[in-house]
Formats: sequence, structure tokens, C-alpha cells
Amino acid sequence: MKSDKKDIRALTKEQLRDFFVSKGDKSFRGNQVYEWLWQKSAHSFEAMTNLSIDTRQMLADNFVINHIKVDLMQRSNDGTIKNAVRLHDDLIVESVLIPTKTRTTACVSSQVGCSLDCKFCATARLKRMRNLNPDEIYDQVVAIDNESKLYFGRRLSNIVFMGMGEPLMNYNNVLKAIEKITSDEGLGMSPKRITVSTSGVPKMIRKMADDEVKFKLAVSLHSAIDEVRTSIMPFNANFTLADLRASLVYWYEKTKSRITYEYVVWKGINDTQEAVNALVDFCRFAPSKVNLIEYNPIDDGDFKQASESAIKIYVDTLERNGITVTVRRSRGKDIDAACGQLANKQ
Ligand code: SAH
Repeated sequence: MKSDKKDIRALTKEQLRDFFVSKGDKSFRGNQVYEWLWQKSAHSFEAMTNLSIDTRQMLADNFVINHIKVDLMQRSNDGTIKNAVRLHDDLIVESVLIPTKTRTTACVSSQVGCSLDCKFCATARLKRMRNLNPDEIYDQVVAIDNESKLYFGRRLSNIVFMGMGEPLMNYNNVLKAIEKITSDEGLGMSPKRITVSTSGVPKMIRKMADDEVKFKLAVSLHSAIDEVRTSIMPFNANFTLADLRASLVYWYEKTKSRITYEYVVWKGINDTQEAVNALVDFCRFAPSKVNLIEYNPIDDGDFKQASESAIKIYVDTLERNGITVTVRRSRGKDIDAACGQLANKQ
């Protein structure tokens, strides 16, 4: 149900304290409510049991809590869990819990749909688009933390912004969400366990470096040759690899944080020695490593996973040049939870 009342989680702690003072109450009530909203992740004002009934009613008269609802939870036969997350305006995004022996990783969305137009990605085909609010990103993380405790008996250990959307096109809200996730007044997670993945928006990469953020950066590169990259990621025409490279050098100078390049090798697109050599050159500019991602088909279109031998050439050439490379197997394919498959099929 839509409401005209203000989303209480858009308020800072200071603003909440001021609100109570303006109502003739004590400012520390603001702290109590703030704790309920973030650390305890309350879904309703009724849940705030250390406040009087009148205070809870007064809050309900003035504000809403736009908490997400996990509509549908699917479990893959490899243990991966996908949540369909309903927002207060009934739009849906997806987030994924990826378990390994020792870790639980949350893959969260930053936008409904996506601002960009990568030809190989299912999310790019969704028309409707809006940015997620900080609390909607935070709630996805809390939901996965709870599922991790319930199903695996441990806390969430890592977060990747690799769900739907381009996080750097919603930078302010992503940053606010991460502030809450890492704050002791939120989830208290270390920023070193958070990775923001971007298709590569040079201006925003510079901004992140200037902001001295402490989380990790991954860039979806897929090709280090402009012509090829533009054909599969059309926005590359506006940014170009030279811009991207310069912004990444700047990032490394400021943060000293190694960059991860995500890279899919496709038949007939980038499975050539020339493509591998271009990647090696690109990697020389700033300390980096390469994650070769398996392609997850989204339809029977133009994209086909390259042969094992083509991937081996990538691995061997990168290693010979002293670049760390890992080959990442897909998780959750059977429930359309793998990279690039998030598209609200239900
Ligand atoms: N917009 C951000 C966040 C999405 S992350 C970004 O581009 O980085 C999702 C990752 O999956 C990206 O590296 C993306 O390039 C990759 N991806 C998209 N579609 C894919 C597909 N069909 N198969 C495998 N990886 C895909």
C-alpha cells in the first residue's frame, strides 16, 4: 500500500532526535527509535516495545517503515537461495545468498532494472527502473543475514553489489546503505568484506577514490578493446577504455586497493589471442586480478560460452604475465540466480 507519510528511515539520527524535541519529548527517544530501525531492523512501530503505546501511535501517525517483503524464496540444489524482494510500491528486485563451506555471501541489487544496456545481461532488458533507497538495500542484507543464521547457523560474511542495477548510477544511496551496514549502529560488518561491482563509470570511480571508501572494487570488463567492448556494452562508446583505465589508476593511487576485473569469454567475440593480449596490457596499469566468469545463457541469442581451450589460453597467458586469475563457476543456475540472470521471471 502506498502512503503519503514520510519514510522514517530517510531521517538521520539527529533529525529523529529533533523530531522528538519538536513534539515536547526527550531527544534520547530518537536514539531508541534509531536503534529499532537499524540495529534491530523493526518492521513496525508496534514492535518498539520500550516506547509507550502513545509514542508508537504518534510515530505511526507521522511516518511509515517501508520495509521490504521477501515474497518468494527459491533454493537451488547447490544451496544458493534467491529472494524475490517486494518493495513498498510493489516493484520487485532479487537478491541471492551464496553459501560456500566457510562463507555466506549476499549478492544484492541497487536498482530496479538497470540504467545500462549490456547485451548479455537479463537485467538490462527490464524496462521499469528506479533507484533503491538506502533502507531497501540494507533490508536485503538483513534478510540474507537472517537466512544465513537459519539455514547455515552462521552470520553473513561477505556482500557483493552484483545483483540488479549499476551501483555507481545510484552511488549516494549505495554509500548510505554501506555506511549503515558497516556502522556499529547497523550490522557492524567490515567494509573489506564488501565489493561494489561496476560496469565502469570513470567519473564515479574517481569520486569513490576521492571519498576514500574502504570497500573493494570490481569492474565488469569483458573486453579491453574499445570496438569489441562497445559492441557488447554500448555505453562504452561514451566512456571509452582509456577513460576507464585512467580512473582505475587514480583509484589505486588513492586507495591502494587491488581491482578485480570480471570477464566472460564468449565464442567469436573475445576468444582470440589479440583479446587476451589486450587484457594483459590493461592489467598492467594498476594492480589487479582477473575473475573469469562462466557465461549464463539468458536466451538462445548471440552469446555462447567459449571453449575450454580458449579459456585455458586466457588462464595460461595471464599467469605467464604474473596476473592472478581465477575461474569462477556459476552458482544457482537452476533457479536463474546466477550472474546476469536476475530478471524477475516470476
Ligand atoms: N552493473 C554492475 C553490477 C552487476 S554485476 C556491473 O556490471 O558490474 C553482475 C556481473 O555479472 C557483471 O560482471 C556482469 O557483467 C556479469 N554478467 C551479466 N550478464 C551475465 C551473464 N549472462 N553471464 C555471466 N555473467 C554475466
